[in-house]
Amino acid sequence: MSTITTPTRKVGFVSLGCPKALVDSEQILTQLRAEGYETANSYDGADLVIVNTCGFIDAAVQESLDAIGEALSENGKVIVTGCLGAKKDAQGDDIIQKVHPKVLAVTGPHALGEVMNAVHLHLPKPHEPFMDLVPAQGIKLTPRHYAYLKISEGCNHRCSFCIIPSMRGDLVSRPIAEVMLEAENLFKSGVKELLVISQDTSAYGVDVKFRTGFWNGKPVRTHMTQLVAALGELGASYGAWVRLHYVYPYPHVDDVIPLMNQGVVVPYLDVPLQHAHPAVLKRMKRPANGEKNIERIAAWRAMCPDITIRSTFIAGFPGETEEEFEYLLDFLKEAQIDRLGCFAYSPVQGATANELADPVPAELREERRGRVMQLQETISKQRLQARVGKSLRVLIDEVDKAGSAVGRSAADAPEIDGVVYVKAPYEPHRKLKVGEFVDVAVTASDAHDLWAKA
Ligand code: SF4
Repeated sequence: MSTITTPTRKVGFVSLGCPKALVDSEQILTQLRAEGYETANSYDGADLVIVNTCGFIDAAVQESLDAIGEALSENGKVIVTGCLGAKKDAQGDDIIQKVHPKVLAVTGPHALGEVMNAVHLHLPKPHEPFMDLVPAQGIKLTPRHYAYLKISEGCNHRCSFCIIPSMRGDLVSRPIAEVMLEAENLFKSGVKELLVISQDTSAYGVDVKFRTGFWNGKPVRTHMTQLVAALGELGASYGAWVRLHYVYPYPHVDDVIPLMNQGVVVPYLDVPLQHAHPAVLKRMKRPANGEKNIERIAAWRAMCPDITIRSTFIAGFPGETEEEFEYLLDFLKEAQIDRLGCFAYSPVQGATANELADPVPAELREERRGRVMQLQETISKQRLQARVGKSLRVLIDEVDKAGSAVGRSAADAPEIDGVVYVKAPYEPHRKLKVGEFVDVAVTASDAHDLWAKA
């Protein structure tokens, strides 16, 4: 008797870049699994390798090019996707094709269909899909208890330091019913924290004129505030957190703050401000650059005293004078931002800001970045110190053999903020679990993290 065996088709996957690229990787992996492909853990075991690249700053470009080179030498059959795939050099030539002409195919970001076409061409489908073998929430690259939810792709702004719109195109909002269904599947699968991402979360629905969709038989508009309310309500029914990233300070964002105060969504707002001086913001062509951000932040804190504000800034933007930089420092002293990242300006190839007059020398850019971070260290230390002695709800991310754990409070997004180190509970039979919410008492702090006991 003979048996017929279907040959397996194995695809290796290298995922680089930001959470938005990670979501693209998850969608490709989900589709591969749905079509019966397997994933390989080594170059040797793979029939083909997909590299999802990042092209944001020069260091990321180099890392992506190195990863492609490694995949080519170790495996030989390589498909490239992601932001670097859409990037051209100064001569207008495709960067990847120029450095690595042997790659099988190159696509830009958010190109599931094109990537799958290239896969089918070079590694035919193993069999017809058994869609029900794929988990409804798709394949996730994050730990099981948290997940990113991408609500839109692309961006309508043209910030002068950024090349994302040229790589990812204009804003395209996902239909609200599709977003809600994905959120529901994630919660059902055990996700305890949903991180809403996009290039500009506040702009959700602008491209479709805030069209009305339907969720659970009820009309709901494709609009940030309605989406946040619906996600918060859904998350609460599963005992899970919903956290918002990349929110620009438009007036309608004020409508979301009461939802944070009511506990519908986590009181955490990630608002990338990039600078404070009006002239620099104008040169940066930032969205909402006319908003009075100090007043807005004060109003948000009045509406929701527990709110954590995270932001990012750029030091040494072209033309930044010492006076403009000190204006930024004064702003930071007054704004008392809880979580802050600061980058020295990096002249990304293709960004219009590179043509602005009076570029700041690299050394001075770094020095200014250092001054921002030094100031922030003092601010953060004081703000975290104020939490000592208080109780907090923490979501556990890791547990060691002795039972001590690392978790995060509502004030800490994964990967980018601080953590809460939780001492093992005293009860001998009570071991903390990953993905569990625990109430802890804060015992100590430093400039980034907290220590607590369960
Ligand atoms: S808002 Fe500005 S920085 Fe953000 S993706 Fe759009 S163009 Fe880039």
